[in-house]
Amino acid sequence: MLDRLLDLLFPPKCVFCHSLLDEDDSKRGICSSCYEKVMPSVHLFEGEFFDRGAAAYIYSGNIRESLHRFKFGGRKEYASVYADLLIKSFGDSPLITEADVIVSVPTNRFNLRKRGYDHTGLLAHRLAEKSGKDYLNVLSKTRRTRPMFGLKPNERKANILGSIEVRSHAEQIGGKTVLLTDDIFTTGATASECARVLKQAGAEKVFVITVAKTEKSY
Ligand SMILES: [Zn+2]
Repeated sequence: MLDRLLDLLFPPKCVFCHSLLDEDDSKRGICSSCYEKVMPSVHLFEGEFFDRGAAAYIYSGNIRESLHRFKFGGRKEYASVYADLLIKSFGDSPLITEADVIVSVPTNRFNLRKRGYDHTGLLAHRLAEKSGKDYLNVLSKTRRTRPMFGLKPNERKANILGSIEVRSHAEQIGGKTVLLTDDIFTTGATASECARVLKQAGAEKVFVITVAKTEKSY
């Protein structure tokens, strides 16, 4: 009942092109046209401290706008749609099959309050549910960092260094293969810093999956 009321007030729209969805398409959150055109793929990336990394999309066009709505436009329900797409791309890959636990890149408290939800945490949570893994909320920010946008790679690294910590229940990641999730992979500064502290806390391997990666290589 509530679902139907919400659908009337906020009719479901395609996560990519934002067109209205019919009943069939609303289950997957993607219109038929985008479902054919905007297929997830495998875009590998590398960085310090993590062992493997891949994104399902290149960060451009509708993907970019979609992720922007997810991060800044209140569209927290996109987490579930993205998780399905990540499973479609990586469900059979060691990135997911070998992972023991799934964690997410932490959001600082200021952004969390402004946004009202932890978008990367939601994504990791949905991915864990759909892949039958455990989600662990083990990473947190120790201080505020400057927005990464517009910073050069070395500035990004300096900005993030020492700003992330593993919470006290670190024993749950000791000797484990940890899958770290984030929305966008840019230079890898954040993913590398998360991987560094996870390994310091005993993680055996760290894999990284993101919804998209930027096209530009740094
Ligand atoms: Zn669409």
